[in-house]
Amino acid sequence: MYDVLIIGGGVIGCAVARKLSQYQGRFAVLERAEDVADGASKANSGIVHAGFDAKPGTKKAYYNVKGAKMYAQLAKELGVPYANIGAMVLGFSEEDRDILKTLLRQGIENGVDQLRIIEREEILEKEPNVNPQAVCALDVPTSAVVSPYEMTLALAYHAAQNGVEFLLNCPVTRIYEDHETWHVETPRGVLESRAIVNCAGVGAAELHNMISDEHLEIIPRRGEYYLLDSTVKCPFSRTMFQVPGKMGKGVLISPTAHGNALLGPSAEDISDGYDTATTRKGLDFVMDKCRLTWPDANVRSAITTFAGVRAHPATNDFLIGETHGAPENAFEAIGIESPGLTAAPAIGADLGEQVAEHLKLPDAKFVKAAVPLLKPFAAMTEEERADACRRDPEYGRIVCRCEVITEAEIRDAIRRPVGARSIDGVKRRTRAGMGRCQGGFCSPRVMEILCEELHCSPLDITKSGGNSHLLVGTLNDIAKEAQGHD
Ligand SMILES: Cc1cc2nc3c(=O)[nH]c(=O)nc-3n(C[C@H](O)[C@H](O)[C@H](O)COP(=O)(O)OP(=O)(O)OC[C@H]3O[C@@H](n4cnc5c(N)ncnc54)[C@H](O)[C@@H]3O)c2cc1C
Repeated sequence: MYDVLIIGGGVIGCAVARKLSQYQGRFAVLERAEDVADGASKANSGIVHAGFDAKPGTKKAYYNVKGAKMYAQLAKELGVPYANIGAMVLGFSEEDRDILKTLLRQGIENGVDQLRIIEREEILEKEPNVNPQAVCALDVPTSAVVSPYEMTLALAYHAAQNGVEFLLNCPVTRIYEDHETWHVETPRGVLESRAIVNCAGVGAAELHNMISDEHLEIIPRRGEYYLLDSTVKCPFSRTMFQVPGKMGKGVLISPTAHGNALLGPSAEDISDGYDTATTRKGLDFVMDKCRLTWPDANVRSAITTFAGVRAHPATNDFLIGETHGAPENAFEAIGIESPGLTAAPAIGADLGEQVAEHLKLPDAKFVKAAVPLLKPFAAMTEEERADACRRDPEYGRIVCRCEVITEAEIRDAIRRPVGARSIDGVKRRTRAGMGRCQGGFCSPRVMEILCEELHCSPLDITKSGGNSHLLVGTLNDIAKEAQGHD
């Protein structure tokens, strides 16, 4: 019997789990994918939004601003890449200026500091590569960037260090309440719990509608991106937005927390919330829009494209707290589209506390401090590198040449709590395979290391769980099969 089962291992579920781990009780995160951070939390813009975009008085506005203010400290504590680089929202006409004035007013009302509207001369002084047709801009010094999947992983590590169980490859197929106990059906059997927290992203409405008589709708909204090679310097030092439209914040160009340039996202409503394919149409839309901000934008230095799917709520606001219309002890964080990454620390803290108070869980007797993510070998000084190699000779073996990732870092990523189990799991934890060759050179070695650490055959290793096996058989098997056919 669990005290709380959290459904969904995205940034929201992991933030709730981390908060609950500060209380006494038995907690687990149930995740349908083979890893945490497999949904929207791995494929987004990675912006810690300042909070001018959300309508004052909404949950989005409240949690955006509260979460943004928690980020710098949290990222430092967990060792997650984060940088307060600032942002600008560009206006190209006098109508755009009116929109910027509205954003300024909203931002001030939401409690965002240092916002102001600046003119062309100052824009070009701060960002010389901006299209000189820009007329004015909202200057947003408090905006920041973070590595979204590393934030999710670090929250999960810390929760696991303090006893939260992570059940991966564990999709919840049905939930019902009986005699004040929640029954959660999965392919591993039925789990029982005093309370549940639904943080299932694009899958959350389906689960909500199983237990509540207040029907909810989530509209999956896909966003596509180009990622440029980190050897090509991002033309801007801040995140460059254009004025938002009715589908969201619009297309941006931004340095990522790791220094690549990111271009996107598009916004398209789709029927399948797990369809993360990129399309010619979506990517062309992104490039066209980007040329308005940066006339020299082109695909020559793109190293990959990807897409993420927003869980857009038909109500337009986050739903956080007790599940209305359901039996007691059901909680949820649903419709957590952008700025959900920014809001996550605040949602996790408030919702975790609400659940704990409701169940009257005592404080944990002892809470382990987070073991921060390792400093990447690539970011070490020569002295630090020499020292690391002396301590552990596996630091002396570079596996990913593009991003300079060592064998020691890959083994640590597999051995950590909630460790990597696939090629993509290693990639998100270490950046091996994130560079120019996109894993062309290092994947076979990463596969060997996974096999050594997990004591399994290369045939068992997948790119990202499920049926995404990289190898289909041995040469001997194929030869035998061929002989059989003769
Ligand atoms: C294109 C795009 C750009 C964005 N840009 C930003 C940004 O710059 N800044 C910002 O603050 N926010 C941004 N966001 C929003 C942010 O990414 C999300 O708000 C956040 O990641 C939501 O986290 P989550 O945990 O709710 O969802 P997810 O990360 O999607 O996690 C939900 C998890 O639940 C699992 N799940 C689903 N159904 C089940 C089930 N039945 N059983 C078990 N597990 C299940 C899924 O596999 C998934 O792992 C963006 C989103 C997108 C898509």
